[in-house]
Amino acid sequence: MVDYIFNFISFEDFSEIDKQLVRIRQNELSHLPFSGEPDLTEPNPEWGEKYVTELDGYIAIDVPWKPQTKEEEEELVNKFLSGLRKLLDKESNWTFLQPLLLSLEYCARCQTCSEACPIYIASGRKEIYNPNFRSEILRKIIKETKGGKKRSKKVNAKTITRLAELSYRCTICRRCTQTCPIGVDNGLITREIRKLFSQELGIAPTALHKSGTVQHLEKGSSTGLTPEGFSDIIEFIEEDIEERTGKKIKIPVDEKGADILLIHNAGEYLSWPENVAAFAIIFEEAGLDWTLSSDMVGYDAVNYGVWYDDVQLSRIALKHAEIAHKLDVNRIVVGECGHAHKAITVIADRIFVDEYNIPRESCLPLLWDIVRKKKLNLDPEKNNFPVTLHDPCNVVRLMGIVEPQRRILNEICPQFREMHPNGVYNYCCGGGSGFAIMNSMNFPEFRAKVASRMKLKQILDAFQDHIEPDVQKYVCAPCSNCKGAIRDILTHYNVTEKCGIYYGGLVELIVNAMVDVEEPFVEMY
Ligand code: SF4
Ligand code: SF4
Repeated sequence: MVDYIFNFISFEDFSEIDKQLVRIRQNELSHLPFSGEPDLTEPNPEWGEKYVTELDGYIAIDVPWKPQTKEEEEELVNKFLSGLRKLLDKESNWTFLQPLLLSLEYCARCQTCSEACPIYIASGRKEIYNPNFRSEILRKIIKETKGGKKRSKKVNAKTITRLAELSYRCTICRRCTQTCPIGVDNGLITREIRKLFSQELGIAPTALHKSGTVQHLEKGSSTGLTPEGFSDIIEFIEEDIEERTGKKIKIPVDEKGADILLIHNAGEYLSWPENVAAFAIIFEEAGLDWTLSSDMVGYDAVNYGVWYDDVQLSRIALKHAEIAHKLDVNRIVVGECGHAHKAITVIADRIFVDEYNIPRESCLPLLWDIVRKKKLNLDPEKNNFPVTLHDPCNVVRLMGIVEPQRRILNEICPQFREMHPNGVYNYCCGGGSGFAIMNSMNFPEFRAKVASRMKLKQILDAFQDHIEPDVQKYVCAPCSNCKGAIRDILTHYNVTEKCGIYYGGLVELIVNAMVDVEEPFVEMY
């Protein structure tokens, strides 16, 4: 098979070359302290007819959108230029224009950011994944077209379709942004490129838009969980709590005037109900005045618009605010979901006004407060197995919530050890910006092999002193999407079986340490 590998890709190559620009090769990927890695697969040759395989052979945008005729190409270019004009216009881009313009204007091309990017490093330093490469392509498009006002041969269907795919080769972890000496935000540039494609051309991966936001608004949750299904699961969780702990807990739902509205990522209800159960046990034991909501959208903290579209972001954020207002709560507390932290506490600040501007906060400082004030009777010996902590990018790097989670772990897990690097320097799980739920065609392979690679290395390194499978070890990931991505890498590389590494949230470890919970709450088998 012919390899289409270009080590240095010019804007002209990007716009003109017909073949796939880059091919990932196993022997060029960054080193893992691990043997028996599954082989890379070849893309299905038929995919190229409808999907954009000319970047690196992987497909993130799984809607068949490739133009088939000259007319369709023409229409694509026109719409793209229209979207570009709006992206650079202060009336249309009311959310992020200022940081976008600053980031586009001030790059010194010093490449300090390259070595910060887990995708660039893991790929074997393939140029297209360099944080600055994507931004430079956008800068050149803006220059060539005078901000979308002029046609250019170099801004054609190939340039545009490749750029769209390229915007889904970055997890928007913003590790590059933190490293940039002048604060250029390549993560934001990526997100704004996605926004252009979604808002102007209606192009976004199915998992984010159709199965994500649209389903969230129509059925009540991005998982498809309806309000009726939610009520059934709550009943099941109450029974499960009693069976596992002997505690009879009535989970409060739709309690008007409660102090706290707790919102979980709905993935927890379906995939990790023990996380919801653990929150209920802790909040009840600590005597908090709290409630869940059974309203459409109110039981799902997910807001995928954060990753691709301001309009969709606003729709969900406003529903969350309306529900909190209707319940007349004092504050919204976000459960273990990183991007929901970002959506509702940071970005929604631009949307919530007046009575809808209800205080919003992370669960992590609240949990540390409960542990610190000894509202629970905890015995750390019950968690006497190796534990490490994954830092969700949106919680740590974006919001600066670094200490509460590790203080809890230092208090309740005698064998807690840090990954390196950690805190605000930690690597993304590889599931950021929607990657965790994008499972079409060959994209899961890109996630496992490239996007999550640095995270897998960190996990394996953290447990090197007990890497044998008979010692059970726990990766604590206080974020639903991160848990999903970590589950997938542990499965892809068969790490649980080979090394005895399990994963879960933070609250499960707290309940596991509770003196009056006799049976292990954390299950590692
Ligand atoms: S984004 Fe920042 S770190 Fe990266 S090349 Fe530009 S100035 Fe340098
Ligand atoms: S935001 Fe993260 S994944 Fe994206 S270019 Fe920067 S470091 Fe790489």
